[in-house]
Amino acid sequence: MDQAEFLQRVKKHKNGCWYWQGAIGKEGYGQVLIDKRYRAAHRVAHELFKGPIPEGRQIDHLCNRRQCVNPEHLECVTSQENSRRREVRGKAWGYMWRSGNVREYLDRELL
Ligand SMILES: [Zn+2]
Repeated sequence: MDQAEFLQRVKKHKNGCWYWQGAIGKEGYGQVLIDKRYRAAHRVAHELFKGPIPEGRQIDHLCNRRQCVNPEHLECVTSQENSRRREVRGKAWGYMWRSGNVREYLDRELL
């Protein structure tokens, strides 16, 4: 998959986010089928536009929208840093991501 092919499945929202138009997994992340294997769309976005993700690193969504694949909203962090940020945001917003409420949240965001 190249950048052009990837972008065909992206809808750029005026808030700056790139919403993945393909499949969404139960955790709320975009899914992309490459070589008969589903991969997380935001990780693929990072690889295509910003470069490879080092072993063991996770991708943090700076915009906190899991469906977003804008490489500018993605930052490569360690898993410790990722969980620390998640905790800080959860407290600050009084809102914790759960697989069951992701869809509802995204729908609200997209209105
Ligand atoms: Zn975003």
